Amino acid sequence: MEGGFRKKVSKAGVTVVPRPETFAKATWLPALAKGLGVTMRHFFTNVATGKDIATVQYPEEKVKYPERFRGLHRLMLRDDGSVRCVACMCCPTACPAHCITIIPEETGNPNEKRPAIFEIDELRCIVCGLCVEACPCDAIRMDTGVHAVPTERRYEAVLGKTDLMSRGIQSIATQGGKNDWRDTEKTP
Ligand code: SF4
Ligand code: SF4
Repeated sequence: MEGGFRKKVSKAGVTVVPRPETFAKATWLPALAKGLGVTMRHFFTNVATGKDIATVQYPEEKVKYPERFRGLHRLMLRDDGSVRCVACMCCPTACPAHCITIIPEETGNPNEKRPAIFEIDELRCIVCGLCVEACPCDAIRMDTGVHAVPTERRYEAVLGKTDLMSRGIQSIATQGGKNDWRDTEKTP
């Protein structure tokens, strides 16, 4: 006997649970009354004091996001307004959701490329922030404080390079490091 129920194991290995033995258990009335009691306690407490109400009157009232809140992505810019990204592929490699697509192109500078296409599928993104961590040149951030737009259409959730750059600003980081070793050291 366990918890008022007698369990039998059939030859086929199926556990047969008989009906509860008492009227109270059969109707689940005590459990229902207990659950209802908890609900009513919260209801009257909140009506009287409002202290446990966790909701806000959005959009008139907004909660303050923590400093490290991760919002929509943005691509950061160089001083001349061009994209900082050098298409190194670190972020799509680190992305566990495989939602970043980059097609690189030549820039004329043999030391770096740039993305011809840079897309992020925000419906697949799990907002882990690993792309930001992986970027070696402060080219991608999630500090916009902007929510992804709710949508059920994939094409509305895929952000392209222009959209990502529209939220970008100049970074205070120096592109390629403060001193480029190629300027001071001779290569063999
Ligand atoms: S936040 Fe995470 S899941 Fe989203 S794009 Fe970046 S690495 Fe991928
Ligand atoms: S890690 Fe940074 S530089 Fe590299 S592809 Fe991603 S955004 Fe561009």
